[in-house]
Amino acid sequence: MPDKKSFSQLSIIKQIDACVSCGLCLTVCPTYKNLQNESESPRGRLSIIKGLVAEEISISKSSYKYLDHCLMCGACEAVCPAKVEYTAILGQAKLWLHERGYKSFYDRFFGWLVYRNYRIFFLGKIIALYRMLGIQKVLPLNSVKLYADDVKTVKGKEYYPVASGVNAKGDVYLFRGCVASLFDRDTIKSSIAMLNIAGYNVIFPDNQTCCGSLAIHNGDVIRATKLKQNNLEVFTRDIPLIVTSTGCINSVSKFSDKVSSLYDILEFLAIHLTLDHESNLKIKGNVLSHIPCSQRLRTESLIASRKLLNAFCDNYLELDNSGSCCGSAGTYMYRNKQLADKVVSPLIRQVDTAETPNFIVTQNIGCRMQLMNHTRRRVTEVIHPVTLIYREKFNKHEKFD
Ligand code: SF4
Ligand code: SF4
Repeated sequence: MPDKKSFSQLSIIKQIDACVSCGLCLTVCPTYKNLQNESESPRGRLSIIKGLVAEEISISKSSYKYLDHCLMCGACEAVCPAKVEYTAILGQAKLWLHERGYKSFYDRFFGWLVYRNYRIFFLGKIIALYRMLGIQKVLPLNSVKLYADDVKTVKGKEYYPVASGVNAKGDVYLFRGCVASLFDRDTIKSSIAMLNIAGYNVIFPDNQTCCGSLAIHNGDVIRATKLKQNNLEVFTRDIPLIVTSTGCINSVSKFSDKVSSLYDILEFLAIHLTLDHESNLKIKGNVLSHIPCSQRLRTESLIASRKLLNAFCDNYLELDNSGSCCGSAGTYMYRNKQLADKVVSPLIRQVDTAETPNFIVTQNIGCRMQLMNHTRRRVTEVIHPVTLIYREKFNKHEKFD
């Protein structure tokens, strides 16, 4: 009975009731397109959530699986005529489930791993050992194999000033993210270098932590709040805060209220970098760009990356990923690997038919890992656009330590 339900239950039910069951969202949902099952669609998931929250059905393995299969890509939300805020509803449902003890092994493990920086550091050591002992030859693990050559963590300085003799325009903070110190070091180093080239001193606090987006995805609001609190105590100055991975930007916006402005790295560079239009300095080779779901709805980020990549690349093309997630989605590519492999396949087919792509660029570390796993025989590299620009345009083929 409604009068026995809590405010949060009633609020979720009310939001779901906005759905008019038109089915438009089914046509863009990657899981529905692959599995052709109503329960694997946004509309089906909304009805499962309503049943659970209204306590008309009890949670079962299959209902949990249907909710867990959602990529949180937001494609359904973008086409919904009734403006149903699907991802917010699923987020609340996950919190509701988490409070009742429903969490997968992967949620527990990755939530625990990224909560403390030293755990990421030890993971780096384990991967290094895995490589040193030659275990990868007998037990090749996909992502580990890919990164085993490059596992040192970013360490050292917390302040990177502009070159001596250059007048600095100001200071900026750089946000690191949780796994970037292991798997995205080239992106961090290139971002620092490009910010210096644009005239900004970079403050890179060592005690910053994960943005909390994994915890939010898992419904673990307590961990997400603690991570936010830590970062609030770290980023205290009223200066721009720069984020390299678009997957972090929503969560970072929740603790960036003290800083004057929040940008992804290409947004900031598009405003502050002096562009050189001499065509003979353009980056050679074919560059394919993948737009992460977390970037697709952020217009200013899309405009900035197109502006820079068009200015710097000889031959730049975007993969048509309208509504098509790459399947990485946080820990999804590990916990739902088979489905993630199916979800990424339309993108891989496009890479296969593209004119000899030399580089794929993407602004999200998860997408980068997923695309690396699936395209390593076809393209030279999958990298962040800031690394491509720094390395190829400014001819900085340095080794990142
Ligand atoms: S598009 Fe919106 S209103 Fe239509 S079925 Fe999907 S969630 Fe419901
Ligand atoms: S968020 Fe993506 S995967 Fe989830 S229901 Fe919507 S379209 Fe499907």
